Order: sequence, then C-alpha cells, then structure tokens
Amino acid sequence: MVDGDWADGVSTGKLKRFLVSNGVDVADCLERDDLVKKAKATPDLPLQQLVSPEASKKSKYFSTPAPEGAPEGDEGDKENAAAKRPAGEAKVKKAKRPKKVDEHEIPDAVEGSVHDLGRDWRFLCPGLIFKTYGVGGDEPPATKVAAFDLDGTLIRVKSGRPFSVSPDDWCPFNAKVFKTLEKFHKDGYRIVVFSNQAGVGKKVLGKASLNLRTKVDNVAYKRNPKDPLGGGELRFPFVFFCANRKDEVYRKPADGMFTYFRDTVNAGAALDLGASFYCGDMAGRPGDLDVTDKEFAERCGLPFRTPEEVFGPAGGKAAVPKRDKDGDQTNHNEELCEIFLKISAKLKEVDKFKARAFENAATTLKDYDKKVEGKKEAMKLRGIGKSIGEKVEEYCTTGKIKLMEELFGTVEATKEKAKKEAEEKEQGMAFAFMD
Ligand SMILES: [Mg+2]
Repeated sequence: MVDGDWADGVSTGKLKRFLVSNGVDVADCLERDDLVKKAKATPDLPLQQLVSPEASKKSKYFSTPAPEGAPEGDEGDKENAAAKRPAGEAKVKKAKRPKKVDEHEIPDAVEGSVHDLGRDWRFLCPGLIFKTYGVGGDEPPATKVAAFDLDGTLIRVKSGRPFSVSPDDWCPFNAKVFKTLEKFHKDGYRIVVFSNQAGVGKKVLGKASLNLRTKVDNVAYKRNPKDPLGGGELRFPFVFFCANRKDEVYRKPADGMFTYFRDTVNAGAALDLGASFYCGDMAGRPGDLDVTDKEFAERCGLPFRTPEEVFGPAGGKAAVPKRDKDGDQTNHNEELCEIFLKISAKLKEVDKFKARAFENAATTLKDYDKKVEGKKEAMKLRGIGKSIGEKVEEYCTTGKIKLMEELFGTVEATKEKAKKEAEEKEQGMAFAFMD
C-alpha cells in the first residue's frame, strides 16, 4: 500500500504520530524505515488523512480524478478558490508563523516511544529517563528490591547549596552508603533508584538533563584518578529511573516508575514486596519538605525506611533547620549578616566564589537560632568553613572585620574622602564661574 514516493511526502514525526493515533505500536521503531514497514503492514489505515494535498497529487495512491473540463493541477485550485471569494475582495496572504523548534527536545517523540540519549541512557516519552548499570543479559529477573531515592538519600549536595551546581557537586549521604548498597546486592537484592527530576522537563537533551546523567554515571563508577580517560569500575549493578517532568504518571508519589521497572525492566517477574523496601528522605518528619517518598512506598506496596534507618546519621555538617513560619523570626546575628552581605556584594566584582561563600554564611547565620560566639561554633554550621569561621572569630573578639575595612575603608577614612571630594567639587565650580 505504501510506497517510497508516498512516504517521501510525510515527515517522520507526522508518520509516527499518525500510526500511534491509529493504534499501531511503534515502540520498537527506532528508524524511519521501521515506521514505513509498519504502515505497509497495516493496509487499512486511512492514509489520505496524513498526506498533504500536494503529496496526494504526486502520489499514484491518492490522486483523485479532476472534474471534467476543469483546468488541471495548480491552475484548477486557484480558479476554485477565486470563485469562492466575494467579488472585488483581494486574496489576503496569511503570514506563516515559523514553528518553534527547541534543539534540546526530541522532535519526533510521541507518547510511549523510547529514544536513545547516548551512553546507554534511554527516554520513554513523555516522562521517564532511565539506565541499567550492569543489569540484564542472561541473569534471572530479581525477586526482591532495595529501592532508594537519590538526592538527600544516597547522596548529598557537596557545596551545601539546595541543588547540585555541577555533575561533581555531590558526596555520599555518609561514609557507609556504598558499602551498605554493595551488601544489599550480595544479599540478592536488585538495587533500583527512583528519583524526581522535574528540572529536566521536556528538554531531555538539554544541559540539566546532561548534568544529571553525568552525575549519576559519576555516582555509579569508582573513578580511578590515575586513569587519564577517567575510566572506573562499576560499584554494583543497579537500575536508575527519574521522572523528568511534573506529571501524574511517573513523578513520585505516583507509582509509574515502579510499575515500569517491574513490568518491563524486570520482565514482569513476581516480586516479594514484603522482603523488599523503599528508602527516601521525604518522609513527612518535622523539617522534611514533603512526604512524597513515604507515599510512593505505600502506593507501590513496599515497606518504607528513612535514610537514617538504613545508613545511619547523615555525614557532614547538619543544615541549620528552617524556622517555623509562624514562630520566632529574630535574626540573632543581624549585624554580622549585614557585614557578610556587604563584603559579598563588593567581592562579586573580583571573586564570585568567595562572594558566594560569604552570602551562604549570611544565609546560614540568619536562620541560626542564637548569637554565634566564635569560630568553633560557626564551623559546625553548614556553609561555614575555616576561612569564614576566622572572620566570625574576629568579629566576636574585636567587633569588626579587617577585610570589610580593606574593601570599604575605615569610617574615618571614608569621612575624610567625602570631605576632600566635596572640597574639590566646590573648587571646580569656582573655576567654572571664573571662565
Ligand atoms: Mg530526596
């Protein structure tokens, strides 16, 4: 039914959407030729709906005979259109609006189609990005799973900021994480990660997506610093899933990621849910921003555990807990915060990293529920290292910070400078009058 000349008149995306809308399964069609084969194999499709009038005319399959006596081809079309227009009305050309094409989106992605993103990463349109690390082949499907959230559960942000700023901006939740996961693998669990990453959105080929995929690859492999190519050894086999947008199918607490794992990646094998579990940090505890992980576990029928229950306390410094919105909002370190913010603003012109460090310290101290009394105490807070700790110590003992004076001058020097400038201005005006 379908021939090369017909298929040439139709874009790949249009053909794919058309087949899907007519109930044809195109999940295994990675090439355009596969789509054409599917269309050929389904001769009852109303293909006329798909081709443009121009393509229909060119195609031997869809050309319709012209009425007797009517001019042929384009001339005939023009005459018919002119006859329909009211007399004297000139044809108004509609300006064609250029179609927006985002190079970071997959143009021919349709719901249910699977796309290769490179380095074994796959995208199930419209909302799931996944990769299997050392899982598959001849081994039997898993019967029990040890499932985890990613951020705040297996890894933390190294820089102490709310989100990773680069693929290297992560560290394990604590020193026991990887050893514990290796043990789960040896004990016969399939390790699976289910993560929400709505920051990626539709742009599955964009920067946020690439950074995320690189970060997960970095987590998966023990990097050998001596290897110039950055090669490494896989820590343990596992499967990674992330919901790339805010939908109600794959994004936690919806269970779409889990059912896709169970039915497709794990070949529909029966899982012993009682022997399995899901672990995540959004558990609805005081200080947790949400309860999505706990709800996800419930919807999947999996017992729920917190990261602290599985791995023990988080490593590194604890974040200063956010104040209750209705509670006391007093900034006990107001003057110090102001100094740090002024220094940060001034440093932005010359050293944006140092500037950010002062800004982060100010944010932490603003939420600290008491007046900080020295370096030792300050350095226990997330976002404050040795250098800033010394500035806190200096402020606590002398009441000022030398760096501030270096950047802005002392009060006396500032007053002197202002006086001199005023005098110069006055003199300048006097000379102006003399002209
Ligand atoms: Mg999390």
